[in-house]
Amino acid sequence: MVKAKLTSPDTSPDAPLEVDVLVVGGGLVGATLAIALAGAGITVALVDRENPAAVLRAQFDGRCSAIAQASQQVLRGLGVWENIASEAAPIEQIRVSDGGSLFFLHYDCAEIGDDPLGFMVENRVMRKALQLRLEDESGVAYFAPDGIDTLARTPGLVRARLESGREIQARLVAGCEGRRSPTREAAGIALTRWSYRQTAIVCTVEHERSHNFIAHEHFLPAGPFAILPLLGTKEKPGRRSSLVWTERADIAPAMMALNDADFLAELSKRFGDFLGELRVVGPRFSYPLSLQYAQRSVDRRLVLVGDASHGMHPIAGQGLNMGLRDVAVLSELLVDAARLGLDLGDAALLERYERARRFDNHVMLAMTDVLNRLFSNDFTPLRLARDLGLGAVNKMPGVKKFFMRDAMGQLGALPRLMRGEKL
Ligand SMILES: Cc1cc2nc3c(=O)[nH]c(=O)nc-3n(C[C@H](O)[C@H](O)[C@H](O)COP(=O)(O)OP(=O)(O)OC[C@H]3O[C@@H](n4cnc5c(N)ncnc54)[C@H](O)[C@@H]3O)c2cc1C
Repeated sequence: MVKAKLTSPDTSPDAPLEVDVLVVGGGLVGATLAIALAGAGITVALVDRENPAAVLRAQFDGRCSAIAQASQQVLRGLGVWENIASEAAPIEQIRVSDGGSLFFLHYDCAEIGDDPLGFMVENRVMRKALQLRLEDESGVAYFAPDGIDTLARTPGLVRARLESGREIQARLVAGCEGRRSPTREAAGIALTRWSYRQTAIVCTVEHERSHNFIAHEHFLPAGPFAILPLLGTKEKPGRRSSLVWTERADIAPAMMALNDADFLAELSKRFGDFLGELRVVGPRFSYPLSLQYAQRSVDRRLVLVGDASHGMHPIAGQGLNMGLRDVAVLSELLVDAARLGLDLGDAALLERYERARRFDNHVMLAMTDVLNRLFSNDFTPLRLARDLGLGAVNKMPGVKKFFMRDAMGQLGALPRLMRGEKL
């Protein structure tokens, strides 16, 4: 899809397209940023290397994401949630358990109000909803499949030439290409990274009994095994779940290569029989797990957003939520600056984004890292300590409420989009 509505009819297609912001990478984060900015009058060129039709296919990305309440507010405010709502499964309870231990931690949304703790949404459904919204957004020129051929960030302007030959001029470029961001690399921004030597095996299962919208995080020696509720079909509501099965990286390829019956047998050993008989539906996917963060998220006329800036372990289902928080903060700063007639690539403005997001992202990176190290092992003293911890927290209503509000994204100073306000 190439949609360049911003070009006026009397402008030659050879003339550079002039926009306020060039967003490179139209994944879940980049597309949301483009919609947020354009909706508030900031013109955007959005470039993605993938064919928009290909990213909607079931084989492209089998993941489902836990969307925190604050992220849902962002998508709702931008007119994206209305195309997701009917396919989003509410998470009403979360049960955390450790191997065969009797201690567990149980969160119930009823303890803090009427809203669910979050929603499970297929990434494919979110991509589709973002594409539908982009089609209506006249402030976004969308180039896909396409890529950046050359990019120059001068003191006054960003100049890009796309692989298709189109020239673009902007005040700012946002690198949203995910973990392997070429924009970040070209800017020489160093990356801190370590591998967890774990792989996430992702698939969808159908089960005999309803999950009752309870998410399960079961800690096994190789890593967390998450059973995440999906809506299911009309005939069998609540009988479908998305699995994120963390396995040792040296074992995962053998698991992925198993035939269907053996794969189901291995999976069932970890899943247990509490939801009755299991059946794997659709393809399996695998994702190597690592932690990484860019040493800085801004440079001359450049910002990094989402996984391009920070990639974390999916143990807490927070990577995308943190990316959407980047979007909410950055779009608020840029929209306010545009209203004052300021330069959107101004270094002091970008520095405010860096300051606003650095601490929050680093706390989440550290938290996911510590949780994974603490729980992904079978070292007896550590197992006893963490089990006592789970049991103790479970008996502390105040602490539980704090953790639930944190998971819902309600803590800290929330940007306008996350408070349900307009930009
Ligand atoms: C197993 C697993 C489960 C997860 N579960 C959750 C969860 O429950 N909740 C949650 O919040 N997070 C979750 N995450 C994390 C979440 O998936 C990521 O944080 C999120 O997808 C990052 O989005 P992004 O748009 O920044 O990057 P990506 O999703 O990587 O998107 C990058 C985009 O840039 C494009 N691109 C790449 N290179 C170029 C280029 N050179 N030129 C142009 N375009 C380019 C790509 O085509 C793509 O569209 C999970 C991650 C994993 C691995």
